[in-house]
Amino acid sequence: MGKGFFNVPIAVNEPVMSYAPGSPEREAVLKAYKDMFNSKIDVPMYINGNDVKTGNTQTMSPPHDHQHIVGTYHTAEKSHVEEAIATALEARKTWSQLPWEQRAGIFLKAAELIAGPYRAKINAATMIAQSKTIHQAEIDSACELIDFLRFNVQFMTDIYMEQPESTSDAWNRIEYRPLEGFTYAVTPFNFTAIAGNLPACMALMGNVVVWKPSDSQIYSAKVIMDVFKEAGVPDGVINVVFGDPVMITNTVMASPDFSGLHFTGSTFIFKELWKQIGNNIHNYKTYPRIVGETGGKDFIIAHKSANAKQVATAISRGAFEFQGQKCSAASRAYIPNNLWDDVKNYVIEDVKSFKMGSPEDMSNFITAVIHEGSFDKLAKYIDAAKADTDAEIIVGGNYDKSKGYFIEPTVILTSNPKYETMCTELFGPVITIYVYDADKYSETLKLVDETSEYALTGAILATDRYAINEATTALQNCAGNFYINDKPTGAVVGQQPFGGARASGTNDKAGSAQNLLRWVSPRMIKETFVTPTDYRYPFLG
Ligand code: NAD
Repeated sequence: MGKGFFNVPIAVNEPVMSYAPGSPEREAVLKAYKDMFNSKIDVPMYINGNDVKTGNTQTMSPPHDHQHIVGTYHTAEKSHVEEAIATALEARKTWSQLPWEQRAGIFLKAAELIAGPYRAKINAATMIAQSKTIHQAEIDSACELIDFLRFNVQFMTDIYMEQPESTSDAWNRIEYRPLEGFTYAVTPFNFTAIAGNLPACMALMGNVVVWKPSDSQIYSAKVIMDVFKEAGVPDGVINVVFGDPVMITNTVMASPDFSGLHFTGSTFIFKELWKQIGNNIHNYKTYPRIVGETGGKDFIIAHKSANAKQVATAISRGAFEFQGQKCSAASRAYIPNNLWDDVKNYVIEDVKSFKMGSPEDMSNFITAVIHEGSFDKLAKYIDAAKADTDAEIIVGGNYDKSKGYFIEPTVILTSNPKYETMCTELFGPVITIYVYDADKYSETLKLVDETSEYALTGAILATDRYAINEATTALQNCAGNFYINDKPTGAVVGQQPFGGARASGTNDKAGSAQNLLRWVSPRMIKETFVTPTDYRYPFLG
């Protein structure tokens, strides 16, 4: 920027539309859904601004109607990944030199395109690809992605304004350079917003990107790329490849120019990728930045002073919205015995009232889980709970994959606080509850802290302020996002920066300046005005 200190628009959260019966937004999204569901799309990869079709295709089907094909996508050979890398490095020559306000303009435009002309399309694509209800699609693929794009521009300028002190004879300034080389974004199926944000926020900071979306999110990834193209992301800045994750990753990580991994997905995969980077470390020109947000075993603990109806609602919403497939979804709960009868009755009543089916029918609260692998895994844990003597299913427990991957929202009650489903991430509509002696609150907090390897989200419900304070302290390290008297899901960009520690990730807080700082390498510039001409200091006499 050479000709002004520009202010960026003040970022505000995108309002969530209601989609109530009769509303124009409901009509628009249902029309888009029908059109897309009843036609077939052929999704190319996107390398150096070109649509790349390899002829090696896979089909795409909605999880709630797995025999219905909505399209195909093309998968990469090694040479395509190499081309994506080469093209990114070439694009870096101009992109990394472009003034920041030009980059900001592109991503602010992308936000407005999603808020307006692409809103129905990106929501419908997310309903079809990931089986989200319209509300879940709206808060993800429209609002959260818009918020990421808007707030990141503001965070970028906040970072740029962080400057060191200067003196009258020396001017100190910091330049927030993009990383040298290219970056790699690997994104999960469960949030269209995360899929868009991971490559976009690195590109916003001046980096070039190879992006590999999840196989289960390609339909909505295609809309993201259409938006980025229309917003004016130049050729080669974000390159999208699909297909075998191992081959793609091996090719990316074999490059000496690989300079950063921005990952969201499961813990095991992230650890494997970290290991691979470590094994290749002698080959890289720089130390690659590694950012990963990974799994969770998110908890709700109620104190004996809590309101039973509030606890039950936190469970019903926190565990079952989007079929529990949010990294933040509550999947273990600790309820004191004085509240249990009431909480149990309310939760059973809620779960029995949920309607399950296609997201096209907007009265459904529950839709399908993402794919057959997830369905089979969940069915296995449900069957085990039916057979185990220390577990009992108090509501739900049925499943059916004849048309879509439908798992009934299920509540397991266990007498064993270390029962497998209290510790393992299942990533589905299943919560396990342990009822504790109301007078053993402190011991139970310790149990919450020690039961799982994860530390993503958690919630305490209580009216007793001493109990809230005790939980806040005792659970300090077992949640990166901690909620008091709320469900543990629903973080909003700019309000609750998101991320966890322990096995849940590097906690670089998506939706904050902290995350963007990982994608720059500051250069300190000191300019001296009157340069010394004699090496001797006065003390030398
Ligand atoms: P996943 O780990 O199966 O896949 C994530 C990405 O990694 C996909 O693009 C996938 O193709 C890729 N991948 C898979 N195997 C790979 C390999 N061997 N090498 C390289 N890449 C590989 O996760 P998912 O099922 O898409 O998403 C669910 C997981 O993501 C859950 O564990 C959830 O907790 C986590 N998640 C965490 C957050 C967070 O912010 N902490 C947010 C969303 C999801």
